Amino acid sequence: MDEGTAGAMRAAAFGLVTAVRTDPVDMAGGGPISGLSGPRSAGPALSDRYRCGHNGHVKLYRDHAVVLRTHKLGEADRIIGLLTRHHGRVRAVAKGVRRTTSRLGARVEPFMHVDIQLHRGRNLDVVTQVEMVGAYAPAIAPDYELFTTGTAIVEAAERFTEIEREPATQQYHLALGALHALAARRHAPGLVLDSYLLRSLAAAGYAPSFMDCARCGSPGPHRAFNAQAGGAVCAGCRPHGSPAPSAAAFALLAALLTGDWEAAEEADGATRREAGGIVAAYAQWHMERQVRSLQLVERA
Ligand SMILES: [Zn+2]
Repeated sequence: MDEGTAGAMRAAAFGLVTAVRTDPVDMAGGGPISGLSGPRSAGPALSDRYRCGHNGHVKLYRDHAVVLRTHKLGEADRIIGLLTRHHGRVRAVAKGVRRTTSRLGARVEPFMHVDIQLHRGRNLDVVTQVEMVGAYAPAIAPDYELFTTGTAIVEAAERFTEIEREPATQQYHLALGALHALAARRHAPGLVLDSYLLRSLAAAGYAPSFMDCARCGSPGPHRAFNAQAGGAVCAGCRPHGSPAPSAAAFALLAALLTGDWEAAEEADGATRREAGGIVAAYAQWHMERQVRSLQLVERA
């Protein structure tokens, strides 16, 4: 008995199989399946995960996702890295997408927001359908600054969701919001990235303090910042060699963390660069591995 069969039987035992799938899986066309199209507001019910197919037991699920990255596989396929709304980070095979006749290929590019149907595999899932929700790649990919910023965002999103299939809904929404803001050129790309990194770190449990001392809690503002300590540090707690950012940089960092864009947009170029350096140092410390793409981002 394979994993899918066992899962379906467990689901059946708990009365979870409520839908019998009869519509064919349209791999090449990627058009909407009746009754399944359109954004879903609620999470997938368990019955969505365990469906009995017309040719045996298959395990299909559908979710919204951001495409993080793609790799070539064989002659015509790609492996797609996805951050889904309800199923965490998932890797899936998209078959035939590198053929010129594939209508699916353009939808599974990095930065795209898609409504995707996947077949659960032993190792990799298989993409069976894709509908476009937000076509951000055409806005982001051709512009060098947007592309390097977008790449830093999807790379960081991957690092923030280290364990595959572990639900990370907050990380999904933060990555999606950042890519949307980037594609719409709503704010300066450097500010979008820094706000995204700070908020994602906070969501991961590493909220920095930009006011009170991160070590002893004494009320701020303080003059020094230490990534290892967790943010602003008072004169008594300040580890040797901690940098002393400007008051304006501290204010910008606090604005980016809370999403106060009105205050953030007022910061001048020098302050943005200073804050960007602090965010990169803080993010790199917490991710323990260097986010390579951060080095490519030039903050205006
Ligand atoms: Zn202190």
